[in-house]
Amino acid sequence: MAKTLTATMRAVAVTPMRAGSARQVELPIPTVARDTAVMRVLEVGIDGTDTEINMGLYGEAPPGSDFLVIGHEALSVVEAVGEGVSGFTAGDLVVSTVRRPDDCPNCRAGESDMCLFGRYTERGIKGAHGYMGEYYAETPAFMVKIPPPLRPFAVLLEPLSIVEKATYQAWKIQERTVWAPKRAVVLGAGPIGILCTILLRLRGLEVHVYAKSPPDTLPGRILRDLGASYESVVDHPVTGIKDELGQIDFMLEGTGNSTVAFEAMAELGINGVLCLTGVSGGTSSIEIPADVINLQMVLGNRLAFGSVNANRRYFEMGVQHFQQAERQWPGIFQRLITRRVPFDDFMSALDRRPEDIKTLLTIAAE
Ligand code: BGC
Ligand code: ZN
Repeated sequence: MAKTLTATMRAVAVTPMRAGSARQVELPIPTVARDTAVMRVLEVGIDGTDTEINMGLYGEAPPGSDFLVIGHEALSVVEAVGEGVSGFTAGDLVVSTVRRPDDCPNCRAGESDMCLFGRYTERGIKGAHGYMGEYYAETPAFMVKIPPPLRPFAVLLEPLSIVEKATYQAWKIQERTVWAPKRAVVLGAGPIGILCTILLRLRGLEVHVYAKSPPDTLPGRILRDLGASYESVVDHPVTGIKDELGQIDFMLEGTGNSTVAFEAMAELGINGVLCLTGVSGGTSSIEIPADVINLQMVLGNRLAFGSVNANRRYFEMGVQHFQQAERQWPGIFQRLITRRVPFDDFMSALDRRPEDIKTLLTIAAE
């Protein structure tokens, strides 16, 4: 039964570009309009972007506001819908997409992830409040319905959509040639690295993951259960992995470390493709072996591309792959959720611990 709405709700907000400014705010509960739905948030995933925003490195408040409600990975339940809304009813489980379009040609075509003008907003990140509060209002165009059996792990759909896009785009790009990829390297064993490994294993690739944590930690065990290999960069640095493995057809950079991104370019195999997904909020610069990388890129038709965000088509692919992967590796997604934090402890949720894979902030029990 729907809960009676009180006038205000709790949310977590920051002052963008000010380090450590996360705090609880009281906001009016959104009311339903003709063409919108009001969502009651169940849980919100925390990612590197949230941590960077709270470090003051990234993020932008909505116009006219001096704070930003954070959170862009939320599983919610529809509380109420306006009379103009079809396809959703109270009680439906929903994950909303993050980006909202401007009026550029790509945004108008439904591909705000390929925005040209840069006047898009991103809920919880850039110019629009996010989901780390008790309620939010949304229009159906940005709501993705979740089948109830996916409830325990559907909060992972937003990060999954990121690697859905990355892999889909890489395969699309490679239509330029005869491409029968066999071997993939994933850099990073956080949610992005593990979720990407799941998609690559579903595509039948041999996957090798390299990251910081030692092999006998949880990410290593999950990756080995997926049939991937896992090595620590402590004894297997990125530079040199091509000599260890041979031809690498696809690489995904999922650490968010820009140095790793450039090291990866030099390891790619002939006609190989490297996808960069990390958002690096800093300003660091490094020296690179420019001649070597340039020569290899040209002589081997190598390609590196960046991939941001995901439009709803990739969320919908994610819903399909959730089901397919659960059949192959039952319980796999729940193993990624390593910490659940009650609302009042949001500070601890924003604080990343080395053993965290995905931390969730619990907003409502059900
Ligand atoms: C989010 C994306 C967003 C990107 C850049 C990521 O953490 O998942 O939706 O586009 O940050 O702001
Ligand atoms: Zn646009």
